[in-house]
Amino acid sequence: MLTDNIVIPNRDEIKSRISEREYDVVVIGGGITGAGVLRDATLRGLNVALFEKGDFSSGTSSESTKLLHGGLRYLKNYEFKLVREAALERKIVADLTPNFSTVKKFMIPMYKWTPEKLWMLRIGLWFYDLLAWPKQIGKHKTLSKQKLIEQFPIVEGEEDLIGGAYYHDVETNDSRLVLLNLLSGVAGHADVLNYTEVTHWERDENGIKLNVKDVETGEETEVHTKLLVNATGPWSHETEALGKDFDPKIHIRRTKGVHLTVKKKLTDYCVLLANKDDRPIFILPWDDFDIVGTTDTDWKLPSEEVKPEKEDLDYILDALNTLFPTAKYTRKDVYSAWAGLRPLVYQPGKDEKKTSREHTVKDYGDVITIAGGKMTTHRKMAKDVMDRAIKNLGLSPSSHKCVTDSVPFFSTDFEDYETFKEQSYKDLKEKYNLSEKTIRVLLQHYGTEIPRLTALIDEDKSLTEIIDQNAPFIMAQVVYSTRYEFARTVTDVLRRRFQMAFYKGQGLSSVDKVAETMAKELNWSEETKNQMKNDYVEYVKNFMGTP
Ligand code: FAD
Repeated sequence: MLTDNIVIPNRDEIKSRISEREYDVVVIGGGITGAGVLRDATLRGLNVALFEKGDFSSGTSSESTKLLHGGLRYLKNYEFKLVREAALERKIVADLTPNFSTVKKFMIPMYKWTPEKLWMLRIGLWFYDLLAWPKQIGKHKTLSKQKLIEQFPIVEGEEDLIGGAYYHDVETNDSRLVLLNLLSGVAGHADVLNYTEVTHWERDENGIKLNVKDVETGEETEVHTKLLVNATGPWSHETEALGKDFDPKIHIRRTKGVHLTVKKKLTDYCVLLANKDDRPIFILPWDDFDIVGTTDTDWKLPSEEVKPEKEDLDYILDALNTLFPTAKYTRKDVYSAWAGLRPLVYQPGKDEKKTSREHTVKDYGDVITIAGGKMTTHRKMAKDVMDRAIKNLGLSPSSHKCVTDSVPFFSTDFEDYETFKEQSYKDLKEKYNLSEKTIRVLLQHYGTEIPRLTALIDEDKSLTEIIDQNAPFIMAQVVYSTRYEFARTVTDVLRRRFQMAFYKGQGLSSVDKVAETMAKELNWSEETKNQMKNDYVEYVKNFMGTP
């Protein structure tokens, strides 16, 4: 079903009404957690707003490994409840987003020195599949050395190889998942604003009063709500501390995780490797490069400053070269690097790897903080928050039920995805002569909203131009992101609306034309346009570079 009857309001329209509306729920934080709460609350018929101080998903939620997964390694910590919850959510979210969530086979090669034994892996995978019941996505299989080599020839010749296995998880797109949650809320008349920081909140006789600051203009507005949800991940403690006379109780342990994108050398399979120090390393094929990661180290500096450092790159490249010596990775093979902070709920006495990924809801009545958890479990996290919110607001649970497990997201209401895909490929090829790779990206990103995108091309045929020869994205996507997806900067477009920043060259050679197009859409002055170009170059150098 097309959603062309839905009007997506622009920033000015939303800004003009936030001081006038009396919200049931205001959400602080536009990462996956906040976006999930927004969608859930809107679908329960509430009047909701969400404020994000940077761009949507600019915190941890664009820095993940991009997996909907049960979390195989948490079985080692006996976290059966977490794995079960995540395995069930994996399938619910994947089924609702078939255009960009794909079941993948993960190979696990095992070596003589692998900390776990083959029999332990066998039991672990058996439990992993069992805990997903009745929402399994594929059966694991343990493999002899010979069978592993047949399926995964890259390991041939590895002297210490003893065998291995494969299992299944889901690859997704973190920033797009955040956006779809937000747009689903917007489609239900929720108000969302990026670059809008909550600077203060306090209780008054009518509920909660917040001060929100437009980060672009410095303008401050007072907003009123009955209930406040703090979904600010690594910033959860600071956000509680913004409350007048409020004693913050949530304590977050932030651990840094770094990923690289590297030239494709190995395989088309996803791979899960146990490094010699027992830290898992994922290799995920992504277009014509691989995503590799991650690290897990405590971070004590301000959350905004997290970035990849030389030792992170060395660690990941060393791991790859130890596990696949023939691949001989060097710095030259790295296209980009990025870092994010896991917002884990502090558990005294546990090291960073053992700290649980389970979420915690702190319920203060009219204020609820939700922290920890995973992108995979965001829907369930939102449900837990909103079940409490409905109770705290004195509303009837039976007439405000959670429906997020069955209602499609904005742009994913496919009657039958395979038929939709087939027909769209045919139409886009015939009418616009786009490459197969570009069509794949358009399907993944826009789903049933493709007509909204092609309407732009019908108005201006030049928008089918490829932005950068290293990547499949087209100029129409720049206009689309700016007009319909709240992109405000060149970085928003090239890093989060689509992931040009991961590709070889990181889109640096396309900055001029992207900025030019955005300038027309957003009426930028010459000075603003130049500033935006510089900001992207600086962002790539400082936060996605390869030190
Ligand atoms: P964030 O995404 O950080 O969002 C919080 C937002 O609040 C930020 O955007 C911030 O700008 C905003 N904010 C803060 N203060 C204010 C304020 N005063 N006013 C307005 N806005 C404010 N999970 C998975 O399921 N699968 C994976 O593969 C996976 N891989 C991961 C790999 C790494 C390296 C890391 C670090 C995490 C990974 N995770 C994964 C976990 C998952 O990414 C996080 O749990 C999730 O993204 C956290 O989302 P969040 O919304 O809670 O926080």
